[in-house]
Amino acid sequence: MSDCSPCTCGDALARVYDYLDSELDAASAVAIAGHLQECPDCAEQYRLEQVVKSLVHRTCCEERAPEALRVRIVARISEVRITYRRQS
Ligand SMILES: [Zn+2]
Repeated sequence: MSDCSPCTCGDALARVYDYLDSELDAASAVAIAGHLQECPDCAEQYRLEQVVKSLVHRTCCEERAPEALRVRIVARISEVRITYRRQS
């Protein structure tokens, strides 16, 4: 599906949390951003992390955690990770 190397994908996925939190140095952030543009699998992973992050943030501000929704998203992420392993 995508023609990026598994090594680069592993790198991107390992750093996607830091990228999301803007904790990477500029060079790494550019590298990850570039990879996300080229790789649909990692871009999807990043999109899901964004959803989870915003959900977690929202949960802090609300009275009750939307547990069912959180479980569904985590399950979806596991699905994506399994799909990713099968492709590589
Ligand atoms: Zn990738």
